[in-house]
Amino acid sequence: MNLILLDKEDFVGQHRVRLSGRRQEHIVNIQRATIGDELRVGKLNGLLGTGEIVRLDEDGLEIEIQLEQQPPTPLPITLLLALPRPKMLKRILQSVSSLGVKKIYLLNSYRVDKSYWNSPLLQPEKLTEQLMLGLEQSRDTVLPEINLCPRFKPFVEDELPEISRHTLSYVAHPGAETACPHSISQKVTLAIGPEGGFIPYEVTKLQNCGFLPIHLGERILRVETAVPVLLSRLTP
Ligand code: SAM
Repeated sequence: MNLILLDKEDFVGQHRVRLSGRRQEHIVNIQRATIGDELRVGKLNGLLGTGEIVRLDEDGLEIEIQLEQQPPTPLPITLLLALPRPKMLKRILQSVSSLGVKKIYLLNSYRVDKSYWNSPLLQPEKLTEQLMLGLEQSRDTVLPEINLCPRFKPFVEDELPEISRHTLSYVAHPGAETACPHSISQKVTLAIGPEGGFIPYEVTKLQNCGFLPIHLGERILRVETAVPVLLSRLTP
């Protein structure tokens, strides 16, 4: 946790927050911070700054905060991700959130196991928990927006044209003719397939929506490896 992320409910005064639970435990037991120590703090969807621990007792921990710094620039990439299995989804959400992605669509695909859509991880508060871990890691405050798209065809036909409008749109697909471009200065919409890959019908539907298939070379990467590689290749 490189940033203590603060929510509205934490505020007990204009410049004072009271924390308990996971964050207090982390500050006291992992960071070994005590009264007078300074911490990096940030308000969820707001500014970053510093805080001084001013009280620490059985009721919790109080921090006097100063917020004046803007969060880091978001990554100009909208991510369409075929829903991975829950364990992998957790890791991917944390990593894409820490890399600065702000719009995520979790998409059905023929090779997505149907049971994944019943995972408790897809409850909004559970998804938010993973995204916030990524923000705490990378010192960002802006919570990514996440959308569930359990029906591939209506999503691609009815919603995707608007989502990908005015962006360069790519679908990562092993064996594609075009290599993944580097350092794109325009906004990008990027589709990444499931562990078994997109089926040809899905690639064609994405192509009909303006998506160009791109490859990352002859090595087939796991989704959780392909995601950060693609994001870093595409951003300037
Ligand atoms: N057998 C599957 C196929 O050929 O499509 C492999 C799928 S791969 C494990 C899972 C996803 O990661 C792919 O759908 C793609 O989006 C991305 N990916 C992995 N390696 C890639 C590569 N070398 N080029 C492009 N995309 C890749």
